Amino acid sequence: MSSKMFRVVVAGGGSAGLTMANRLSRILGASNVALIEPKDEHYYQPLWTLVGGGLKRMEQSEKPMKDFVSKNVHWEKEFVEAFDPDNNKVVLRNGISLNYEYLIIALGITPDYQRVPGLLEGLENAPNVCTNYDAKYVTKTFPAIQNTSKGTALFTHPDTPIKCAGAPQKILYLAEDAIRKRGVRSEVEVAFTHPGGVIFGVQKYAEQLEKVVNKRGIKTYFHHALKELDYASNTAIFHNLKDPENPVKVSIAYEMIHVSPPFKTPEPIATNPNLAAGTGYLDVNTKTLQHNKYSNIFGIGDNINIPSTKTAAGAAAQSGIVEKNLKEVMAKREPVVFYDGYTSCPLVTGGNKGILAEFDINGQPLQTLPSIFGQHKEKKLWYFMKARMMPHLYWYGMIKGPWKGPAVVRKMLRLGF
Ligand SMILES: Cc1cc2nc3c(=O)[nH]c(=O)nc-3n(C[C@H](O)[C@H](O)[C@H](O)COP(=O)(O)OP(=O)(O)OC[C@H]3O[C@@H](n4cnc5c(N)ncnc54)[C@H](O)[C@@H]3O)c2cc1C
Repeated sequence: MSSKMFRVVVAGGGSAGLTMANRLSRILGASNVALIEPKDEHYYQPLWTLVGGGLKRMEQSEKPMKDFVSKNVHWEKEFVEAFDPDNNKVVLRNGISLNYEYLIIALGITPDYQRVPGLLEGLENAPNVCTNYDAKYVTKTFPAIQNTSKGTALFTHPDTPIKCAGAPQKILYLAEDAIRKRGVRSEVEVAFTHPGGVIFGVQKYAEQLEKVVNKRGIKTYFHHALKELDYASNTAIFHNLKDPENPVKVSIAYEMIHVSPPFKTPEPIATNPNLAAGTGYLDVNTKTLQHNKYSNIFGIGDNINIPSTKTAAGAAAQSGIVEKNLKEVMAKREPVVFYDGYTSCPLVTGGNKGILAEFDINGQPLQTLPSIFGQHKEKKLWYFMKARMMPHLYWYGMIKGPWKGPAVVRKMLRLGF
């Protein structure tokens, strides 16, 4: 089988990979950068929360890849079959190999449906089982909410790392809002399950979200992880993990269920012991984003083994770190810039309001705007930014442009205020 040689190969053309491929092709020029991505369409996944909430259409989250891959990038429309880092080679599913000097791995993460028996069958067959976490099923969510006029509307958070750890509860709030507006809220119990003991990992925002939950009469089941779905009898089976050594089986009957599924890394990472950490995620230095074993490999986006929440906003911030450190490594120097774990989560709490959470790797707030703006308070402005401004920033600032997150803006505002 044939092979091709590139200065940089980027594996995965999602938020992180497409951003890096376009950006590096501007720096390195035509034919030096290859992108491996099998899909024809690119999604702005953060919009799926609003699609599920009936506030945007699915088409608004989708654009053709061909319009967003730079003409300087060599695009291989194929799957990565395997990485061969000892020989600087990526093998594609069609048998072609791409050789590289430098490799950026950005395969994202994928739902691990097998961990919850019955879930995939429910998503395929039952109109009242839905998830915003898969392009195939997002459009099931709003009809399921609208068809719920009694019983329990149940929303789950998984016991694995997940994309945008706030999204499982954003759809909870949007659904509660929609059910109330239909005038049937008193007939429906709205409930949220979480495997941990708090509503959100950053205290400043958790305090506000607890108020939202209490004010709106949302029932919470902490320490609960979904283990099985019996969609035929509308029953979700959980483990109560309060005593993790002795999990207790709990069944909850539902009228509708929105499942945020468990996630895993794609096979070419998970099954490669040279690339993956023990967790199955790409083994990178949490600060430089360089692979811990191979200095010519960097990781970016959801697939990397760092304890920070996995978001497109995080990938934007990481893109500046990878770009700078890769240039240093190309010049035979050591990485010089360090990722602080910045991530952002606009927590919509209703059809026109939200909280703008931004925090670092230690779960400490790292807000762009000075505190007088009250990012932790429910405001229309944060919803407006999520629904109207951020999609444009994503497509034209990040994917096609130079956006590397708000660190520069934050520093300038700090000086100004
Ligand atoms: C419902 C929902 C709400 C969200 N809300 C927010 C939010 O409010 N704010 C925010 O910042 N982020 C949010 N996110 C998270 C954000 O979308 C992701 O963190 C971001 O897309 C990660 O980028 P990535 O490139 O790592 O992964 P992805 O964008 O998922 O891209 C991975 C790419 O790799 C490709 N790939 C996979 N396997 C292979 C293979 N074997 N070979 C070749 N290519 C492969 C895939 O086709 C895909 O294109 C949300 C996500 C969801 C689902």
